Amino acid sequence: MSDTEQLPLFSELGLAAPVLKALQDVGYERPSPIQAAAIPHLMAGHDLLGQAQTGTGKTAAFALPLLSRLEAGNRNTQILVLAPTRELALQVTQELISFNTHDLSIAPIYGGASMTEQLRRLKKGIDIVVGTPGRILDHIRRGTLDLSAIAYLVLDEADEMLNMGFIEDIEEIMHAMTGPKRVLLFSATMPDRIAALARNYMHEP
Ligand code: ADP
Repeated sequence: MSDTEQLPLFSELGLAAPVLKALQDVGYERPSPIQAAAIPHLMAGHDLLGQAQTGTGKTAAFALPLLSRLEAGNRNTQILVLAPTRELALQVTQELISFNTHDLSIAPIYGGASMTEQLRRLKKGIDIVVGTPGRILDHIRRGTLDLSAIAYLVLDEADEMLNMGFIEDIEEIMHAMTGPKRVLLFSATMPDRIAALARNYMHEP
């Protein structure tokens, strides 16, 4: 039996029916190892610290359970994903949109793009914001991104964000979030500063 055959089926991981339907449409047959490990853990409502390289399927590993657990969109931002670059933010946004089963509004908010357009979209309300740390912090300071309804914070490629000098921005963003929320942190490596972030802001990851 090959490794693939030993992995469970998506239908065995507790995902919501509409998300399973979306998976069929996208054409994924079996979960990758990180998906098989992370999905039940996230469906149970835990924080997650994932040491994963790119290309392992970590975007779907958090997107599928979070979309399964999310209530119908109410245009209050419920998920904030932080990513190091505009390219990654766009890629994650696309993947979330491909699994978007209940008409959630999902949008990227990154540096270098038009502020006017971002302000217009934020004013209309975005259920899932995928952004780069500097621009997200800018919106938080202006009071144009409301964090009060955030249920999940996802840090994607945390070590890359550290390398790019975003760590203070991330700490300030995490500090600005007061309500109860789950934190998901993905990183290919675990430098001290990232491990400290996990210790200080995560609950039994
Ligand atoms: P990462 O976020 O780890 O860099 P991605 O989530 O971008 O990796 O996944 C890499 C590629 O594999 C993407 O094109 C994605 O659509 C695809 N993919 C992810 N999970 C599966 C799966 N279970 N079955 C088939 N393809 C998948």
